[in-house]
Amino acid sequence: DLPLHQRTPRHDDRLLGGLLVDGFDERSCHSRYQSATYRRNPGRRPSLYLVSKLRRHEALQRRCGPGTPAYSNALEQLKSGESVVSPECRYIVSLPYQGLGNRILAAASAFLYALLTDRVLLLDPSDGMDGLFCEPFPGATWLLPPGFPLQGYATFTNDTAETYGNRLRNKVIGAGAGASPPAFAYVYLHSDASGHDKSFFWDEGQALLRRIQWLVMRTDNYVVPGLFLADTFRAELEKMFPERDAVFHHLGRYLFHPNNHVWGLVARYHDAYLAGAARLVGVQVRVFGAQPNSPELLAQITSCTQKHRLLPEVLATGEPAESGAKSKLAVLVTSLKPWYQEKLKSMYWEHAAANGEVVSVHQPSHEEYQRFGVGSHDRKAWAEIYLLSLADELVTTSQSTFGYVAQGLAGVRPWVMYKPADNGTVTVPDPPCGRAASMEPCFFAAPNYNLWKKQWLDTSTVVPHLKSCADFPWGGLML
Ligand code: GDP
Repeated sequence: DLPLHQRTPRHDDRLLGGLLVDGFDERSCHSRYQSATYRRNPGRRPSLYLVSKLRRHEALQRRCGPGTPAYSNALEQLKSGESVVSPECRYIVSLPYQGLGNRILAAASAFLYALLTDRVLLLDPSDGMDGLFCEPFPGATWLLPPGFPLQGYATFTNDTAETYGNRLRNKVIGAGAGASPPAFAYVYLHSDASGHDKSFFWDEGQALLRRIQWLVMRTDNYVVPGLFLADTFRAELEKMFPERDAVFHHLGRYLFHPNNHVWGLVARYHDAYLAGAARLVGVQVRVFGAQPNSPELLAQITSCTQKHRLLPEVLATGEPAESGAKSKLAVLVTSLKPWYQEKLKSMYWEHAAANGEVVSVHQPSHEEYQRFGVGSHDRKAWAEIYLLSLADELVTTSQSTFGYVAQGLAGVRPWVMYKPADNGTVTVPDPPCGRAASMEPCFFAAPNYNLWKKQWLDTSTVVPHLKSCADFPWGGLML
């Protein structure tokens, strides 16, 4: 066999079934076309309709994006504070927030909203999002250029008067407001967003927002399941994603290509430690900086992986392994702490695997605690998410957006390790893990109130495939 990176995938594999376009300068972004050769799972095929929407959107970004006369006009309009009745181009500035997993899910959500509403997507670079990815749109940038005229836009909160929710509450827009809409609105969709903010998800909210040329959206969440609630979007979403559980899978593979620096981390690690294995299992152990090493969590990892035959059981010490051909299993552990990986590695050194497999255990980094605004820390996190996404099977920690991104890019339903009950005693959950019902990420703050009808509701009555998340029952995800 040729080394992985020298194998040429079928042409349409390299472009992921038409999700990606040919014609980018390959040297500027090696991952875009090379990653297909590293993926064991080819993934789902995008619908032709999604592919055509993406091509149209790329044209929109070129026609209206930074550097075009349309963009200069729109900025002038924004500075004037006045709205235009039918602007040439409309925009959404995305302010992703929190850890890298959260930020990736937030950016993907803003992109889908841009696709649905024909808005140009501009990503705010101030949170380090400019140092991790290649440009996704040919001939246009997705980064918000410096000098954006809205003062303090990057730090608005749900108290800011110009949020869509507050403007609606204060009748600056909507019933009782004057005829002319404002030039911009902030859309606040954090976990603590108010009922007014979240009225965004219904048709009435969308009708108001359509008239506003500039939106600045701030969220730390994967709000996509909420977008299915508006009738205006639902039919379109169903056409774009006939496989409802593959929304992030496609958006993620379209948008997020590691830049050359990160791709170096991914490819070198893969080539050195993972490439020769017959099976690659990823284990994401999400722990927090101050948390002590937990023998219970280690027991949970071993019992989950062995019970579901992801990792082999081991023979008693001293018992010799079976002779004969040995198949290689590589285990990729990601964690802020090294301890879990060290324990697993020792276990498979000191004991033979009962099924005769040769098991190697690897962990690229252990950063000890989460750091904010540090480029090298984010690059490692992104490389590790991406390496996890190359695995055949995944074990993830519940409620972690880091794991959600990996599973979505991989196109696999992971085994999710449940959180132990919070009852003061330290225990290993029983069962230790369960298979996720969907590879889609969970929307932790799924709306359960329709402000327009003043009605609490179970959203699955509106969208039957919108279910509560197994790892976070208040959240919603698409099955
Ligand atoms: P979540 O908090 O689990 O939802 O995931 P996020 O990615 O949003 O935030 C966690 C952040 O902590 C990551 O972005 C990293 O900065 C850091 N982190 C957590 N686990 C790991 C890990 O296994 N490897 C690396 N390199 N960083 C991690």
